[in-house]
Amino acid sequence: MYSTKAGMAHDMLGLKKTSKKKEVIMIIGNIIKGLVIDHIPAGKGMDLYKYLNLDELECEVAFIKNASSSKLGKKDILKINELIDVNYEILAFVDPKITVNVIEDGKRVKKIHPELPDTIKNVIKCKNPRCITSIEQELEQNFKLSDKEKGIYRCIYCDTKAE
Ligand SMILES: [Zn+2]
Repeated sequence: MYSTKAGMAHDMLGLKKTSKKKEVIMIIGNIIKGLVIDHIPAGKGMDLYKYLNLDELECEVAFIKNASSSKLGKKDILKINELIDVNYEILAFVDPKITVNVIEDGKRVKKIHPELPDTIKNVIKCKNPRCITSIEQELEQNFKLSDKEKGIYRCIYCDTKAE
């Protein structure tokens, strides 16, 4: 459903010539080359945006909130108009259902299902105010997978569950 709408938007807007920047055209809808991070549970898109440091990118990034999804009801989507290196580890942590589509020449060339990593370093922070990492800021944040079924991670220093 969603892709049809996006396709229409692309037809209406995307075919206009944008004389600016390279030959890349991305207006709301489809992208020519880049990443589409899909099946993000609704409400988690902004977290992911922060974890992936997308605010630091110079290319276009589209954040679609509450798109309708047959599987999830509602979902968030992030579209990045460039093939960047993404920290796939954090994607599975946010939700194992998240998928990454790699787009080249306007077509999907690869679909990635990120897996839960054994450790997550320096992305999420320990919430325990008494944790050594809260006191000694230069220590690296490090979480270990403690329950693979449930995707639960715990701080290696104080065992606090990551949220
Ligand atoms: Zn801790």
